[in-house]
Amino acid sequence: MLTIAVYVEHASGSVRRASLEALGAAAATGHEVVAILAGDGAEGAASGCAGAARAVCIAGSLASPDALARATADAARQIGARAFVASATSTGKDLAPRVAALLGSALLADCTALSATGDVLRATRPTLAGKVLIQATSSGPVFCATLRRNVFGAASGAGPAGISKAAGVNDFKAMLQSIASKTGSKLDVSEAPIVVAGGRGMKGPEHFALLEELAAAFGSAAVGASRAVVDAGWRPHGEQVGQTGKTVAPQLYVAVGISGAIQHLAGMKTSKVIVAINKDPEAPIFKHADYGIVGDAFEVLPVLTQAVKALRAQ
Ligand SMILES: Cc1cc2nc3c(=O)[nH]c(=O)nc-3n(C[C@H](O)[C@H](O)[C@H](O)COP(=O)(O)OP(=O)(O)OC[C@H]3O[C@@H](n4cnc5c(N)ncnc54)[C@H](O)[C@@H]3O)c2cc1C
Repeated sequence: MLTIAVYVEHASGSVRRASLEALGAAAATGHEVVAILAGDGAEGAASGCAGAARAVCIAGSLASPDALARATADAARQIGARAFVASATSTGKDLAPRVAALLGSALLADCTALSATGDVLRATRPTLAGKVLIQATSSGPVFCATLRRNVFGAASGAGPAGISKAAGVNDFKAMLQSIASKTGSKLDVSEAPIVVAGGRGMKGPEHFALLEELAAAFGSAAVGASRAVVDAGWRPHGEQVGQTGKTVAPQLYVAVGISGAIQHLAGMKTSKVIVAINKDPEAPIFKHADYGIVGDAFEVLPVLTQAVKALRAQ
């Protein structure tokens, strides 16, 4: 049996959903899963690591990405991990390549499937903006991968049977001094179960109010944007979906006035249900949509918002 180390992110004493998905993916291979946590509150959150047989909490703070990577790699070595997995969040994308390098291995980034045949782990990796799916394994000493969020089922059930401590690293080259997090209760586009995204067809930033209204009518929804919109300065980069933005896979993705360029599709085509609203019946987005509405967004959106409100009021 292999030991798979999973780096687990947590906030306010709870394991983040993306990490529960990584734990779920690792546990589904049938191998032993050991959670690695770091930072303030790690010990409190460790008990929530469903799917993990054990948890290891790294002492000290998260002050330095370089120190965190070394401490995580040390912990993975100590538990005899033959695999290291993290979610492809901003933290995971920063940490995992460093850990892989320290473990003398390559990294399979942003994988959408993980499986095991005996002791051989395999991952599926979309590449060329999602046109090609690569099935990959690792010839390095440790199989290292980041897993795309919103693709794997979250681990549930009992937490780890044991929680132990690992030493932190105190000499580092760079130090994080503060994290400026945005205020407000807006859902992040990569975490929302419903995304209402707008493209250049929305004609201007002021018209995104129509998308905000539809998102509010749905309840748990976030507004996303194409790169054309972000480049024009209509919406912040944090909302951009696509190859150079965020990867999302919500239950419902509503693309409004978005043509469906391959770089946009790369970030949303694994969404469970895709609805496209576009006035051009030939728009490429319709080839990937489960439901398509050919029409002017400015006529369709108010009607759709009213219909969603009416349904939810029932
Ligand atoms: C290296 C690279 C990386 C990239 N990364 C990304 C990325 O991460 N994300 C991303 O989105 N793009 C990315 N792009 C850009 C991408 O190629 C497209 O240019 C971009 O996605 C187009 O955005 P859009 O669909 O909003 O605009 P357009 O392609 O201009 O499409 C606008 C659409 O709106 C429709 N429309 C117009 N008026 C209305 C109306 N009144 N009602 C309904 N529909 C209407 C039109 O029919 C059209 O289909 C990248 C490009 C490159 C080269």
